[in-house]
Amino acid sequence: AATPSDSPTIFDKIINNEIPHTTVYEDDKVLAFKDIEPQGPVHILIIPKVRDGLTGLSKAEERHIDILGRLLYTAKLVAKEQGLEEGYRIVINDGPQGCQSVYHIHVHVIGGRQMNWPPG
Ligand code: 5GP
Repeated sequence: AATPSDSPTIFDKIINNEIPHTTVYEDDKVLAFKDIEPQGPVHILIIPKVRDGLTGLSKAEERHIDILGRLLYTAKLVAKEQGLEEGYRIVINDGPQGCQSVYHIHVHVIGGRQMNWPPG
């Protein structure tokens, strides 16, 4: 967990190619890359290239509806491309109690193993 803030995050450096990462999908609006600490055989993060105040889902405004839809649709594309035909888990952590650690909204796509429910 981290303190919620509007400061630039490590994801800006990833977007700007200032730190190494493995991109699995990219278009003009979103970037998908491998999580550095994978919680399964497949663990991808999908982020908007422009944060526009969307530090987390709890900061969403009506102007974000298009990008929110695009993030989820990209999750579906990435899951298919990663071969997750048997299913997968989509996660958006929000705030300290949600275990959010990077304050630039991101969708986790985790799969390649049996997931558990409820989560801890
Ligand atoms: P959160 O806890 O905010 O939902 O998720 C942040 C995720 O970003 C974590 O799963 C963490 O492993 C990942 N992460 C943090 N720093 C880096 C990094 O420098 N590179 C990559 N690829 N992932 C990162």
